[in-house]
Amino acid sequence: MAEERGCREEGRQVLWAPWRMQYIEAPKAEGCIFCTPTDTSALRPALILGVTPHARVMLNKYPYNNGHLLIAPHRHTAQLADLPEDEFHDLMSLLRRAVAVVETALHPQGLNIGMNLGTCAGAGITDHLHWHVVPRWTGDTNFMPVVSAVRVMPQHLLESYDQLRPYFTSSAAVQEGDFHHSHQR
Ligand SMILES: [Zn+2]
Repeated sequence: MAEERGCREEGRQVLWAPWRMQYIEAPKAEGCIFCTPTDTSALRPALILGVTPHARVMLNKYPYNNGHLLIAPHRHTAQLADLPEDEFHDLMSLLRRAVAVVETALHPQGLNIGMNLGTCAGAGITDHLHWHVVPRWTGDTNFMPVVSAVRVMPQHLLESYDQLRPYFTSSAAVQEGDFHHSHQR
């Protein structure tokens, strides 16, 4: 019970990620990061973990937490309603798989899943819609500033990439529902 209350209180805190200033202050890259090539050689440099007929999943280069994933449709649009049914379902299916992968590979204690539409809603990229999947651990809001220097190291991102990439290249090894069951215990 006490643990449950702690978790809820944690959820109300704003996740403080000061290293994201690098992103806020950096000159904006030309072109759309969700519209880059997806041929095999382009995947790792762009931190793209998986590609489906209509969507991609990638590591956020400026993560709020370890394992922060972005899931976007190939279609360059800011409007959810612009996605034809099959593209929407492919996107949602990849979102579900991304959550299952994070749960299986990283064993978070919680997850934030969301989509920011528009600048006032907090979207960093406003013209190409994308889902965020942010794994959470109890106390990570306090812990993260301490290790922020480590978290933005490119090597660290590539280590995360190499850890998660195999889960998106085969149909095996993802225990759907693992997270749910662990919380029922
Ligand atoms: Zn785009």
